[in-house]
Amino acid sequence: MNYYSLHHTSPNTTFKNAVVQGLAKDRGIYFPENTTPLSKDFIENITDYSNHEIAFEAIKQFVGDEIPAKKLKAIIAATVSFDFPLIKIDDNIASLELFHGPTMAFKDVGAKFMAQCLEYFNKDHKEEITVLVATSGDTGGAVANGFLGAKGVNVVILYPSGKVSDVQEKQLTTLGQNITALEVDGVFDDCQEMVKTAFLDTDITKKLTSANSINVARWLPQMFYFFFAYKALKKINKELVFSVPSGNFGNICAGIMAKKLGLPIQHFIAATNINDTVPNYLIDGIYNPKPSKTTISNAMDVGNPSNFIRIRELFNNDLELLKNTFSSYSFSDIETRTTMKDIYYNTGYVAEPHGAIGYLGLKKYGLKENEYGVFLETAHPVKFLDVVEETLPVQIEIPEQIQKVINNKKVAIPISNYEGLKSFLLK
Ligand SMILES: *Cc1c(COP(=O)(O)O)cnc(C)c1O
Repeated sequence: MNYYSLHHTSPNTTFKNAVVQGLAKDRGIYFPENTTPLSKDFIENITDYSNHEIAFEAIKQFVGDEIPAKKLKAIIAATVSFDFPLIKIDDNIASLELFHGPTMAFKDVGAKFMAQCLEYFNKDHKEEITVLVATSGDTGGAVANGFLGAKGVNVVILYPSGKVSDVQEKQLTTLGQNITALEVDGVFDDCQEMVKTAFLDTDITKKLTSANSINVARWLPQMFYFFFAYKALKKINKELVFSVPSGNFGNICAGIMAKKLGLPIQHFIAATNINDTVPNYLIDGIYNPKPSKTTISNAMDVGNPSNFIRIRELFNNDLELLKNTFSSYSFSDIETRTTMKDIYYNTGYVAEPHGAIGYLGLKKYGLKENEYGVFLETAHPVKFLDVVEETLPVQIEIPEQIQKVINNKKVAIPISNYEGLKSFLLK
């Protein structure tokens, strides 16, 4: 499969190059040249297939013959190595829990898949690859865990000092081996800026790539969850509406890709916090990115979502066409906390802030009689322990995955500006 740059001034390239480069030379993000819907027979009989078989069917055309089928199946087995349970909340609403992986956020799937692809493409170790990634919290841990021990690949994570939760910091600073954490005296935007500067710096001759959701190998495997949920809900015979708590809009964009492959999904809701660039765009057709604002759902504090351009491409840049299938609503921290309480007192379910915003999206949309709503629970409540325990009368048990890292010693190199990153990379 070939990919083109959404800035349209770089040549089309292979899956391998799209993964290894991350971004095209013209700074555009990559998009697959064509998509072929899966057979109706497969979708109709989806319950006969295992999750691994479904994932293989969904992804294989995007990889093409660049990874042998046997290897691709092994990569999928390593990636889809935990459950994605659907928990019924109301008569017509369920939570799709994506947090049962090693770092307890949905990003585990994309990070592991990308790590395995990169390791495969770099199998003769001709040149070491350095993965450079800025994180506001969850990406760092998922990428660190996904790439741990990958041969020929070094990972450098930049995170803002004092701005990530204790659990998140432990997840990205305690693994060692091929993972290095740089603790930046600044905010997330500073980390992101430094990464961008490094990509453009011709003094740095190391081969750099990005592990953010702009990378096709992190973005596309997120289609799997939508297939798994469809399989689990096939028997109820209702039209499915997915509400996806969205920041960079990679996850929801993967869901729309799944629909393009023939998965019958009625509607998508991108639920955001007060970082409302996309909800505003749907109202007046003006795309006006703004600096991000801090909220209690901090994994979605994004003012200029990098994957939204892919969503527009999926609807031929036609706003009216987009609105038929896609809605987007924004919610405040107060609404988020109130909803966490409502869900808890009505059903006993503990939603963390991102999931609660997903639930709010379904309520605002207003499900019809023949529709069934699924909101994505993108992280375990333990990852947002302070907010959850402050809002709900609960004490969250620390799961095994977190126990494993929480008492390990943090190792991070403090840096305060781009020169710090540069001298590290030139070493
Ligand atoms: C990253 C993240 C999101 C946002 O996902 P996007 O694909 O960037 O829209 C939502 N919730 C949690 C918990 C996350 O870590």
